[in-house]
Amino acid sequence: MQRITLLGATGSIGVSTLDVISRHPDKYSVYALTGNLQIDRLAEQCEQHRAKYAVVNDEAAAVRLESLLQASGCATEVIYGIDALCQVASDDAVDTVMAAIVGAAGLMPTLAAVRAGKKILLANKESLVMAGGLFMQAVKESGSVLLPIDSEHNAIFQCLPVDYQQTHSSGIDKLLLSASGGPFRGWSAEQMKTVTPDQACAHPNWSMGRKISVDSASLMNKGLELIEACWLFDVGPEQIEVIVHPQSIIHSAVQYIDGSVLAQLGNPDMRTPIAHALAWPQRIDAGVASLNLFEIAQLNFERPDGQAFPCLQLAFDAARAAGDAPAILNAANEIAVQAFLDKRIGFTQIAQVVGETLSGLSFTEPESLDAVQESDNRARAFSAAFIAEIES
Ligand code: NDP
Ligand code: MG
Repeated sequence: MQRITLLGATGSIGVSTLDVISRHPDKYSVYALTGNLQIDRLAEQCEQHRAKYAVVNDEAAAVRLESLLQASGCATEVIYGIDALCQVASDDAVDTVMAAIVGAAGLMPTLAAVRAGKKILLANKESLVMAGGLFMQAVKESGSVLLPIDSEHNAIFQCLPVDYQQTHSSGIDKLLLSASGGPFRGWSAEQMKTVTPDQACAHPNWSMGRKISVDSASLMNKGLELIEACWLFDVGPEQIEVIVHPQSIIHSAVQYIDGSVLAQLGNPDMRTPIAHALAWPQRIDAGVASLNLFEIAQLNFERPDGQAFPCLQLAFDAARAAGDAPAILNAANEIAVQAFLDKRIGFTQIAQVVGETLSGLSFTEPESLDAVQESDNRARAFSAAFIAEIES
């Protein structure tokens, strides 16, 4: 029986994870569930999955959750704050941690799980983008098993030799990172100037949280994933090729030096990578319909349009610059995406904010988590000020 802490239980990945878990009550049990704003949903999840702990961010949310749980006679204990998040991620009673909080807020609890040597199911790509060096060093030191949930990275993981993490001598030529192209594939920058948050969040193939949906529409998600792949698979950004594949059936591939390309295919449903990582190295039913290639009939590929989608190049440049450049990129992007969702800036201004922040700040080599946090703060302050300037 694997005991699981689910960080970000109330989100899109969280809900899909609970769906897979509930199909296998003989294999998985829920230890702790965490949420932020969706307290009603968290209360329902605690009841249904009999969580030992529920974690929220502040006292007011904790009081609300407690009263909901009391009313339904649910015995889940409610705790709150960042220390509580880190505690349920690192507790001795936990085997596996699903890291599915969105954004920089996921870094500390995910790292706490890594340091405690847990099996990590990593959806929160932002923690690797921000602090990849420190994160991977902590994985090495604790012996934590790190399994990617991001569909592309999970696909690459499946296409690499089983002993890749130990040997790295595998004859790899390139990693082929799939991108759907998002809702604005084929649009010009001019056409995207006036799109609304709802349009940006209406992804053609995947149903996801709003932040990653906007990132998918701007291709920043692919940029963050490029950096994520560099850390996970120990390759340089030039060894990764982004391939726009609008059907989202080939989730990514590995090209070997002998001319072979190994790809992982499946319907676009996050329950597949979640089930893969939960059961690894075994396989379990994910509740996902099997792929019907006759119905799909065609798989298409195109190059990304760097002119219309400058975020991809910004991420590539940040990956090459290394140091705290990716953390700065990530923080500026989080601020810009929130400003876009709040209708304070236009969609194409997201790239402008990130670009200005990257060129306005100098890069350093962050040697501690405090230094990463400091870079993140600097970037947030710079991009917030730039947005205020745009607005005035
Ligand atoms: P959602 O926005 O749907 O969910 C985010 C989760 O994090 C929710 O449980 C939310 O709580 C919680 N949360 C938000 N802010 C905070 C905070 N400040 N402190 C603590 N908890 C917080 O996001 P997704 O599920 O879509 O994405 C989660 C992560 O997985 C992201 O890093 C994303 O990049 C990655 N990912 C997602 C994919 C997908 O298909 N959705 C695919 C690949 C990667 P609440 O809702 O209660 O406010
Ligand atoms: Mg992805």
